[in-house]
Amino acid sequence: MMPPAPTMGPSHPKWAEFLADLGGPKGCDFRKDASGRSTWKCDGTVKRPICRRTLKRYDVDVAGSLKLFVRHGGYCDCEVVFNVDRSVRDSQSRGVRHVAVKFDDRGRSPVKRRRARKVVSP
Ligand SMILES: [Zn+2]
Repeated sequence: MMPPAPTMGPSHPKWAEFLADLGGPKGCDFRKDASGRSTWKCDGTVKRPICRRTLKRYDVDVAGSLKLFVRHGGYCDCEVVFNVDRSVRDSQSRGVRHVAVKFDDRGRSPVKRRRARKVVSP
């Protein structure tokens, strides 16, 4: 058997690089629209297709990484950017506050979004 691939997460040496990829043009593509509001791509589901696609570019355990994200509040692609790193802000705060402020600009809280997803039928 091959040795198990490492899990992508805050303790992975390429975590910052992964987060940058996840939020970048090939990922959630965070940007400001013409009126200055923050916009990004995310299907709002726990399937997290952008995370999966991005994780595959790293030599990591994709399923294990997705489980770790859930434990840190990353229930959809954008929540991984918003919440997973924020949960370890003390030790690794690069870029997190900036994104968190964008989230507040939009007037939506992670809790509200999670509740909304539960009532959505497949
Ligand atoms: Zn999302």
